[in-house]
Amino acid sequence: MKNIFLLIISFGLISCNGISQDNSTTIKKPETTMIDKIEKSDDEWKKVLSPEQYEVLREKGTEMPYSGKYYLHKEKGIYVCAACGSELFRSDTKFDAGCGWPSFSDVVDSTKVVYTKDKSHGMIRTEITCAKCGGHLGHVFDDGPALSGLRYCINSVSLEFKK
Ligand code: FE
Repeated sequence: MKNIFLLIISFGLISCNGISQDNSTTIKKPETTMIDKIEKSDDEWKKVLSPEQYEVLREKGTEMPYSGKYYLHKEKGIYVCAACGSELFRSDTKFDAGCGWPSFSDVVDSTKVVYTKDKSHGMIRTEITCAKCGGHLGHVFDDGPALSGLRYCINSVSLEFKK
């Protein structure tokens, strides 16, 4: 009787393992793994970016407020990463937050950017970088007016506009 009991338990464990192995093969990988990442050395980036773009995109600089070419830009189209061309923000999510930098309520899709906690300059903020090339774009704040409640505060220098 004891042997039969052990046999039933053993069979049960094997069955469970079998089920969990089947499930593991059907779990979808996050979409972020499908983005073809671009990796370049600092010297290679310096060759393809202007000094201003390099300072912001590669060294996490910030352009002067109210100075960027897209701060008051209102044409309809899409804003792509100035370093790699990845589509990041749509013009219909752009709004004037009065902060001096182009502001958006949403990204084209959440896999296009990476969110990282940034404790620099005595503040706790969420930095936004391009998921494809790693370029610094700006920060996101939770005081946006739109449905998302978010304000993506982005350097013009990190963007290129496409009609
Ligand atoms: Fe990029």
